[in-house]
Amino acid sequence: MNPAEDVDCVVIGAGVVGIAVARALAQAGREVIVLEAESAIGTQTSSRNSEVIHAGIYYPQHSLMARLCVPGRRMLYAFCRDRGVPHCACGKLIVATTREETERLAGIKARAEANGVEDMRLLTQAEATALEPALSCTAALLSGSTGIIDSHALMLALQGEAEHAGAVFVFRSPVTGGAITDCGTEITVGGADPMRLRCRLLVNAAGLHAPALARSLAGMPGRFIPTAYYAKGSYFTLAGRSPFSRLIYPVPVPGGLGVHLTIDLGGQARFGPDVEWIDRIDYSVDPRRADHFTAAVRRYWPGLRDGALQPGYAGIRPKIVPPGAAGQDFVVQGQQTHGIPGLVHLFGIESPGLTASLALAGYVAEMTIEASK
Ligand SMILES: Cc1cc2nc3c(=O)[nH]c(=O)nc-3n(C[C@H](O)[C@H](O)[C@H](O)COP(=O)(O)OP(=O)(O)OC[C@H]3O[C@@H](n4cnc5c(N)ncnc54)[C@H](O)[C@@H]3O)c2cc1C
Repeated sequence: MNPAEDVDCVVIGAGVVGIAVARALAQAGREVIVLEAESAIGTQTSSRNSEVIHAGIYYPQHSLMARLCVPGRRMLYAFCRDRGVPHCACGKLIVATTREETERLAGIKARAEANGVEDMRLLTQAEATALEPALSCTAALLSGSTGIIDSHALMLALQGEAEHAGAVFVFRSPVTGGAITDCGTEITVGGADPMRLRCRLLVNAAGLHAPALARSLAGMPGRFIPTAYYAKGSYFTLAGRSPFSRLIYPVPVPGGLGVHLTIDLGGQARFGPDVEWIDRIDYSVDPRRADHFTAAVRRYWPGLRDGALQPGYAGIRPKIVPPGAAGQDFVVQGQQTHGIPGLVHLFGIESPGLTASLALAGYVAEMTIEASK
């Protein structure tokens, strides 16, 4: 193989986060190459999610998720408005179906407000059903700033701006390993044209593979690399138009948000994602899970007909804490943590990573500018 070529910045992964980071770095004047293993942008988690613009309701106060979701959501709405990215601030109802759940709504509202979510409103049963007549509930919490987005249009818009600022995207280019040297990180790239690159800044935005990729870099201290766990979320779709015009979420259960209803910009309803811990990447949807979905959905929508749910698609959450453990948060790890200049890892970027993508990108760009001062 030829000797390593020198480049300024390499971003590994062209999911929504990698693309947003590449755009931010290129717009800050840096030379950027994005290496993507697949043949197109956003084929993994970034296209296997609910496409919800989250308000920032549930995250523990001061967590990085909470700190980046609220500003990220505002930045995302502004970006979509300016660039014509299809989106809709349709709002969301968190619905209680028992007295215990009704009592928990005030606590959810307080948590959201502590995170800076400004427009939460408690609704009586009558107020909720006036908004959504098909709903069965005892009370609800309305989040006006929750919305939906065409995630692929977002990624295309971000890619266009990144390229306009000089970033280069290279597809079918899996990074297979590398080593940290005195003059940057050297990486090996596979694919049809294998090569070696040495970069001053390496951003690992490889999603589900980010921990494995970090481990493949000789010289990266293993104690900072989290173990990867996969939590699959399957979706079922509903034939015909959605009976609801807002997103409908049950009161969260320990470990998850419960089987909720989201709608896409075409008005199609889908239910999910559920939580299934798996050992390897497998995006198939088991049709037998429909029974569990039907029972969960009928608690707030008794009108769901037998057999109305069709297997949809699945995504996998890049978890860095094991099943049942608390403490999952975004981890953006730079020199301050692991001591290596010019190396940033993004671990555990699950929901609300789409919503927070612009804020996450700003955070990474600022971190690298600070470090190079
Ligand atoms: C079921 C589910 C529902 C979700 N719903 C929402 C939601 O409604 N709203 C929200 O805000 N967020 C949501 N999220 C979270 C959001 O989808 C993710 O946070 C976001 O897509 C992560 O983007 P990413 O770029 O980090 O990862 P990815 O999209 O996975 O991109 C990583 C990229 O790296 C590439 N790659 C991996 N290894 C290598 C390598 N060695 N060399 C080169 N390339 C490599 C992959 O091919 C991939 O393209 C959801 C997530 C899941 C799983």
